[in-house]
Amino acid sequence: MKLLVKIHKKRGQEPIIARTVLDTGVLINVERANIESMSGEVLIEVADPEAKRVCDRLKEFGAEVERLEDSVCRNEEECIDCGECVSVCPQNVFSFDEEWNITLKTEKCVLCGKCVEACPHNALSLHQ
Ligand code: SF4
Ligand code: SF4
Repeated sequence: MKLLVKIHKKRGQEPIIARTVLDTGVLINVERANIESMSGEVLIEVADPEAKRVCDRLKEFGAEVERLEDSVCRNEEECIDCGECVSVCPQNVFSFDEEWNITLKTEKCVLCGKCVEACPHNALSLHQ
């Protein structure tokens, strides 16, 4: 399961992702991180059965945690199956099926936004 972790850093605060790994014993895969001096956003992936434990510990450290179910959405009425998103996505979220229609594996998305910028029909949006 993917979790979007929003961190508000206090001066001298410990690295909370590392502390959560140590405290829970759960392996956390960091897929994307955008950290500035006093705040940050980190996209992590953890095994489903461990997600609640990780969420609870992160929240105890003061982070906001959101479960991401459908990270990228495609408006089927706007999509023209041009394939631009297939070319730009670094995670291979998009592919063509046998009938050359676009299909998505949203669980692989890391919210980089490249497909949204590339889509010529504004058919894509990211979970906010
Ligand atoms: S880039 Fe946009 S219009 Fe083209 S296939 Fe992807 S979602 Fe559809
Ligand atoms: S946001 Fe990035 S990773 Fe997610 S589907 Fe779009 S291009 Fe792929």
